[in-house]
Amino acid sequence: MNDTPEKPSHFIREMIAADLASGKHDSVRTRFPPEPNGYLHIGHAKSICLNFGVAEEFGGVCNLRYDDTNPVKEDQEYVDAIARDVKWLGFDWDGEPKFASDYFEQMYAFATELIEKGLAYVCTLTPEEFREYRGVPTRPGTPSPHRDRSVAENLDLFRRMKAGEFSDGTYVLRAKIDMDSPNLHLRDPAIYRIRHATHHRTGDTWCLYPIYDFAHCLEDAIERVTHSLCTLEFEVHRPLYNWILENVTLPKPLPEQTEFARLNITNTVMSKRKLLELVREGEVNGWDDPRMPTLVGMRRRGYPPAAIRAFCEKVGVTKFNGLTDFALLEFCVREELNRVAERRMAVLDPVKVVIENYPEDGEEFFEAVNNPENPEAGTRQVPFCRELYIDREDFMEDPPGKFRRLAPGREVRLRAACYITCQSVVKNDQGEIEEIRCVWDPESRGGGTPDGRKVKGTIHWVSARHALSAEVRLYDRLFTEAQPDAVEDKDFREFLNPESLQVVQAKLEPGLAGFPPETPVQFERVGYFTPDPDSRPDAPVWNRTATLRDGWKGKT
Ligand code: ATP
Ligand code: MG
Repeated sequence: MNDTPEKPSHFIREMIAADLASGKHDSVRTRFPPEPNGYLHIGHAKSICLNFGVAEEFGGVCNLRYDDTNPVKEDQEYVDAIARDVKWLGFDWDGEPKFASDYFEQMYAFATELIEKGLAYVCTLTPEEFREYRGVPTRPGTPSPHRDRSVAENLDLFRRMKAGEFSDGTYVLRAKIDMDSPNLHLRDPAIYRIRHATHHRTGDTWCLYPIYDFAHCLEDAIERVTHSLCTLEFEVHRPLYNWILENVTLPKPLPEQTEFARLNITNTVMSKRKLLELVREGEVNGWDDPRMPTLVGMRRRGYPPAAIRAFCEKVGVTKFNGLTDFALLEFCVREELNRVAERRMAVLDPVKVVIENYPEDGEEFFEAVNNPENPEAGTRQVPFCRELYIDREDFMEDPPGKFRRLAPGREVRLRAACYITCQSVVKNDQGEIEEIRCVWDPESRGGGTPDGRKVKGTIHWVSARHALSAEVRLYDRLFTEAQPDAVEDKDFREFLNPESLQVVQAKLEPGLAGFPPETPVQFERVGYFTPDPDSRPDAPVWNRTATLRDGWKGKT
């Protein structure tokens, strides 16, 4: 994927290059391992770009693997959505998608192997006792009274756990490692627990499920992953990852775990649990609400996948947790859209202009450039007639001297059309302007400059007779606070931005009828907009993808 010409190196690229050079690995296999318990968000995009990106750069492959070891929260809806999102971002996985649940038999066999080697035991401490015995890092823990159960007894109990003889939470299988380790993850961690729950793929076959730390490293090893890239919070789990792999029978070389900093961005939350709460409580209109940090939300909003990839590349890969300004993502979106988006005209806050010296039933077409950044985008014909709409903010009755737009007695250029001069205004009983009465100079038709006179301002417009009426949804930051879930004693929902969605009725140039979905357009001088899937031919709906400039005035 060559969106960014210069790719600054980072420690993971360097590590992989070194591993290939030294012959430690002769090919690269990474994996992206989402748990199918929610939709992917921009944080996952960082992991996707990294895992698929480095594999591709080094001629290797990347697996898509669903880490579906917790039957309670997982769902086929999420499985399907995740695959769609990865494809949409522009990546493809090796072979079929993989599922941790496909390895349940193998994992059970590896657990049995540990028991046979005297390296795992069945424990019946309650969760409270479990924690108490485990203790604190500064003092040795207390061994479980079941730690020295015989291999035969452990095998029998483990088999009966699998057979469904015991209820949830009564028995766990624990790895027998080191109750004195300063790393609590090594103090005989639980590796299997009982869960009588229906799994989205294996149904009721299992009532015994592996714990993440036991499952994940084995999934990597079974798939012959070379580089297992994960976020920093797993650094303290790495000794356990290695311990498990080294103590069961596996082909070499074993996968190696390397940690990088997760992506955090301002004015949103990224935990799937919190995003699910927003959806369930109706604070947003679903996972794909354009205000959500989810990939489906960004897609609906009109963010191009190339912009998200460029953003992830810009954020970089480091070992330090940081906070990235949402504005950087918007910058990447604008940069991409400025290049690719065609220009059209639309008026979001329409006020009528009447050209007094233009025939009542007259009509003509002006040629307008589709994208000044890309000559190949060509031109289009835009209809013009006696009555037009312009944006209310492009007119002032009593303007300050530096106002360059339309005002009584002043002349402006209508983009791609002609010059008009304001003669008078018509107001309603409330004193609001209903019509701006103008005259045009036919000599200026098509953008010519009659007698060389200069016009200071250019404004956009649409023909009233030809205009399409559309609902336009204007989005802003979902939260007013930079880190809504990090404010002491406050619930993140208290910082929801009440102005994150505003709906206006706009007038669009007629060529925007039936514009293809997911295709952002620049409404000239206004911003970038994308048709929403709610659009119907007789009732178009558009989303504001991005403003033309950063206009955020809140906290970041
Ligand atoms: P959550 O805590 O929101 O449920 P998660 O990390 O549990 O997220 P997973 O489905 O387990 O979500 O994540 C899949 C992969 O994406 C993991 O390898 C994880 O490290 C990575 N990932 C998740 N969030 C981020 C993030 N904010 N930045 C970078 N990588 C992330
Ligand atoms: Mg997880």
